[in-house]
Amino acid sequence: MTGPLVPFREIVLKVHSRCDLACDHCYIYEHADQSWRTRPKTISDEAISWTARRLAEHASAHALDSMSVILHGGEPLLAGPARLRRVCEELTAALNGIAELDLRIHTNGVQLSPRYLDLFDEFDVKVGISLDGDRAANDRHRRFANGRTSHPLVLKAVELLRQERYRHLDLGLLCTIDIENDPHTVLDALVELDPPLIDFLLPHATWDDPPPRPNGSETAYAEWLLKVHDRWRDLGSPVPVRLFSSVLSTLGGGPSLTESLGLAPTDLVVVETDGQLEQVDSLKSAYEGAAATGFNVFAHSFDDVAAHPGVRARQLGLAGVSGTCRDCPVVRSCGGGLYTHRFSSADGFDNPSVYCRDLEALVRGIEARAEVPPSVTDHAELTYAQQDLTRTLLARLHADLDGRGGARWEEAWQLAGVLESSEQGAAGLDHVLSHPYTRTWLLETLEGLHAGRADAVDEALRLRACAAAAAVRSGLELDAGADYRDGLLHLPTLGELRLGGAGEHGTVQLRTGEGVVVIRRDDGAGEWCVRHGEDTPGWKPVRHLGQGGVPPFALDDLDPYRDCFAAPASSRLGPADADEWEAGLAEAWALLEREAPSHARVVAGSLTTLTPLATGRHTERRHGYGAIGLTSANDAKRLALELLGGFRRTTLRALLEVTDLYAADGAWVYHPLWQDGVVPFSRLLAETHERVALATLDPCYMGGVEEALDMMDSAAEPTLAGRRIISVLRNEVKQTRDKWAEQTQDCYALERSR
Ligand code: SF4
Repeated sequence: MTGPLVPFREIVLKVHSRCDLACDHCYIYEHADQSWRTRPKTISDEAISWTARRLAEHASAHALDSMSVILHGGEPLLAGPARLRRVCEELTAALNGIAELDLRIHTNGVQLSPRYLDLFDEFDVKVGISLDGDRAANDRHRRFANGRTSHPLVLKAVELLRQERYRHLDLGLLCTIDIENDPHTVLDALVELDPPLIDFLLPHATWDDPPPRPNGSETAYAEWLLKVHDRWRDLGSPVPVRLFSSVLSTLGGGPSLTESLGLAPTDLVVVETDGQLEQVDSLKSAYEGAAATGFNVFAHSFDDVAAHPGVRARQLGLAGVSGTCRDCPVVRSCGGGLYTHRFSSADGFDNPSVYCRDLEALVRGIEARAEVPPSVTDHAELTYAQQDLTRTLLARLHADLDGRGGARWEEAWQLAGVLESSEQGAAGLDHVLSHPYTRTWLLETLEGLHAGRADAVDEALRLRACAAAAAVRSGLELDAGADYRDGLLHLPTLGELRLGGAGEHGTVQLRTGEGVVVIRRDDGAGEWCVRHGEDTPGWKPVRHLGQGGVPPFALDDLDPYRDCFAAPASSRLGPADADEWEAGLAEAWALLEREAPSHARVVAGSLTTLTPLATGRHTERRHGYGAIGLTSANDAKRLALELLGGFRRTTLRALLEVTDLYAADGAWVYHPLWQDGVVPFSRLLAETHERVALATLDPCYMGGVEEALDMMDSAAEPTLAGRRIISVLRNEVKQTRDKWAEQTQDCYALERSR
């Protein structure tokens, strides 16, 4: 088995091997493995000391900053306060100065008393209590050997733990599911106790010993859990439920939050009362000796166990699940289920979970009920999310400069604050911060600072020009300072003023007002009065389109950061070139409005800035939402395709910056029909996203997109937001399909033959 060894971060320490209850669903006493019969009842002093030693050794060897130890049984409280004190003392002393110790105990609560809780308070031992719901639900399995109910005693324990003095120790409730119980009643009973967390556990089962399904439904457990889920949502999600949080996390591209779901490698080892080192406890449901490793704390390190083939098999993530699971669209959330639940005597653990249908239905059910961020389907929301991101980056730059920008930075920062305090000022600032090349500046400056680049602090001082431009845009009477280089003062989104010769650098003061700005060199060598919309000697305003029905996009051929496109036109367009550019774009825009009116509306509402490119082939570095680079073309269709394609690329990139659309990219590959060779999911999505839009202008782009959407629908990578994008693309394809029904196949064949 390949792959790095995963250190253990969680140790389950069996402090007592017997129990005071006789629950008929318990995996320790009622399932295949009966090894408890030969174990000592209580953990020995020697086993405690060696466990503490192994713990410290493991934390040091792997430089772990914390380790969790869960005191378990049987029923761990049966070990008694003195033995538990010894365990806590030894473990705490062993990890002192090496790593944080996160101590926990899982108990049935029957014996819990202030005597134990005072001890747990002393060592900060968090307490989780098993409770299956209301009295009827709990009594179904959790009874004493003589059949007596344990419910009142457990409720007493929960009440005790809820007292102010112990509440900080409360870890929450663990509820083993029985689908004969009413799901709403179970949830209500648990929620009423106000725990910090509820953990629902599927009863242990294997393919040899499948779970009961009284109504015969192969998704009975999912149906039960989804009823709990809906009730939980109706109640306003009053308590975190780990199972739901985990599915939502993985659907959003995040990690699994429980060992029973997801592809995270296992990092847990069990120490039995006799010092034997074993794999995860629930394996005892599989077969006699399934959890055994042959190692013990006296002679073996935790690393010896970590290298055991049985443990390694559960650390392989995707490579460790069955072939069926590897091809399953919900594998990132499900992970093939709990390892134990995969067992059959015919194939060992090389199976999907015995709860497979339930797990798929549960993930799909939660997915169907979950909300995606509005920015996924709403372009205005995407613009707001992008503005937030830019402001976050600016705040980060301020923090990272940590005073290195000096008085000039502080002056600009304060001006930005003044602008923020009025509606007009904030609008001016928003405009400049939303300028796509403001993002390029911020990202490159932050990278420069982190890399220790000498010019990065100077680079940061573009904030002065940004704040000055925002002040001009606000129309308020304000004073601002800015810097010029090579005799040029550039005011982002506004234009450029020549106020000196090449090689001249210096500072200016600006006095802004409604429609006019007075700019004075600090060395007294000149003063300029620039009026908006009027020609002023030396002043080159950013041009705006607007002729022939084209929206008033900025034609920015001045901003120094437009070089985020690898091949921007090297100098400002002359008047004749600009006219030609605008005429060409008017034709392209008319075509776009005629053939793809809904796309034209979105582009008009979201695109702000066009930058002329010297050549058609270019790569892009990062910039904010709303910019594309275009070459001038007298072919309206080519220009319209370039415009729409560029807009789709910038939109997808902007979305990816504010939300995860996929996870585990590259774990699988796909073969889109429009090309030879395979691509990862990210590229399949990007190309399909662009082609679906281009297909409204040219039917050739329809070839293969429906097949690509089918591939993405059955892929495991898309997050919730990614699946929503795929369904939006499907709707777009539906609208385009009829238009081109006749021509698609011919064009597709033509493209393939090129
Ligand atoms: S739903 Fe079934 S096939 Fe899919 S990952 Fe889970 S266990 Fe495997």
